[in-house]
Amino acid sequence: QSKLQLLQGHIRDFQDFPKKGVLFRDICPILKDPASLTAVTDLFEEHVKKHYKQVDLIVGMDARGFLFGPLLAQRLGIGFVLVRKKGKLPGPTVSVAYDLEYGKAEAEIQEDAVAPGQKVVLIDDLLATGGTLYAACELMRKQKAEVLGCMVVIELKELKGTDRLKPHGVFSLVQY
Ligand code: 5GP
Repeated sequence: QSKLQLLQGHIRDFQDFPKKGVLFRDICPILKDPASLTAVTDLFEEHVKKHYKQVDLIVGMDARGFLFGPLLAQRLGIGFVLVRKKGKLPGPTVSVAYDLEYGKAEAEIQEDAVAPGQKVVLIDDLLATGGTLYAACELMRKQKAEVLGCMVVIELKELKGTDRLKPHGVFSLVQY
């Protein structure tokens, strides 16, 4: 069984969550299975080492980006930075507003989290419309960091998140 097959087998579907008509892809079984979690980290690590010469930081999305990001950052021997929903981070912050399916949200980082010119890779569990990662790209632009690319465990192809994130590339492990 390949690493990909292993993690595919640890993604569960929930119909009508968080609301009617939505098919939710649940990554909790991956976290519960050490071999699957190792496989995710391996695949991300292989991609980074193959495609990016130098990465300074892994930047993770609130909240499930926090589950995968630090593991990868540790493997690479680099730091991890949190992009949080507004109001969660102490000290001076920078924020950007973005649209959700219903309503608006704001993403925030600590002002000193990334330095100008640093090369970063963004990470989350799942790419849907791309709104969340787009907001993070905006934050990186404001801080003059260079986004090398985005990485997700799961990509929902029909929502065309990769179009939204152009010119940044998105690497996904599993596609639906
Ligand atoms: P986007 O901003 O790309 O439209 O939505 C992606 C964000 O919503 C991610 O942070 C992700 O955690 C969350 N999300 C949306 N749908 C799902 C889903 O079906 N499964 C999981 N695990 N996360 C989802």
